[in-house]
Amino acid sequence: MARRKKIYEGKAKIMYEGPEPGTLVQYFKDDATAFNAEKRATIEGKGVLNNRLSEFFMTGLNAIGVPTHFIKRLNMREQLIRQVEIIPLEVIVRNFAAGSMAKRLGMEEGTALPRPIVEFSYKDDALGDPLVPEEYIIAFGWASQQDLDDIVALALRVNDFVSGVMFGVGIKLVDFKIEIGRIWDGEFVRLVVADEISPDSCRLWDIETGQKLDKDVFRRDLGNLTDAYTEVARRLGVLPTNVTHTTKPTLIN
Ligand code: UDP
Repeated sequence: MARRKKIYEGKAKIMYEGPEPGTLVQYFKDDATAFNAEKRATIEGKGVLNNRLSEFFMTGLNAIGVPTHFIKRLNMREQLIRQVEIIPLEVIVRNFAAGSMAKRLGMEEGTALPRPIVEFSYKDDALGDPLVPEEYIIAFGWASQQDLDDIVALALRVNDFVSGVMFGVGIKLVDFKIEIGRIWDGEFVRLVVADEISPDSCRLWDIETGQKLDKDVFRRDLGNLTDAYTEVARRLGVLPTNVTHTTKPTLIN
């Protein structure tokens, strides 16, 4: 097969030119990084699991009317997506205090927040993705006030959907990060959920035991990352061996 043109290579994924204009192929690598890429490893099987899990969530979001960049999964590690212009923000939604929020405010990890909190970091690895207020985002033209209102509404719908699906399989969605892209439909611009939704970008805790089933297992050396992600995939019924994307989540008692 002819080599495809690589458009961009990030820490965990590669983007290739897609088969039609306006499409890209998103390839999931096994590479894991943390602490602004100071800690790195290759974790066999991670890319395959994240491809499946992101497919599962993006397909579900599309089905309930939350637009995403996802078109279809192509194979074990690749999915076809719509090409978007990524807004240079990490959109973070938090249901419970953890990570940088717990540290910044001296809160115990796991403290329930009074309501979901949406915050924004400016996507810039060299600066360590600094937290930014809306005022900066608008003043520097990264997004308009209207975009921000739409982004918050999208992020909260993603939060309700993913929290609900996870709750159904005994997992608490503590927080997560999404990215948002712009797509031009003629003269109209639409905002869609982009990037990925996977245990790389969420904090997922077992409701009963509190066991971490996300990238903190790697960040904090808590065990085998592939085992943790496999457990999430198993509970959702999206293990590579028994998957179609119509598989329903399995309720556990
Ligand atoms: N997150 C991410 N990519 C980043 C930063 C954060 O996917 O570059 C996710 C992270 O996995 C967690 C949520 O966003 O689910 C909130 O992360 P936090 O701000 O607490 O940062 P961290 O503690 O991960 O540095």
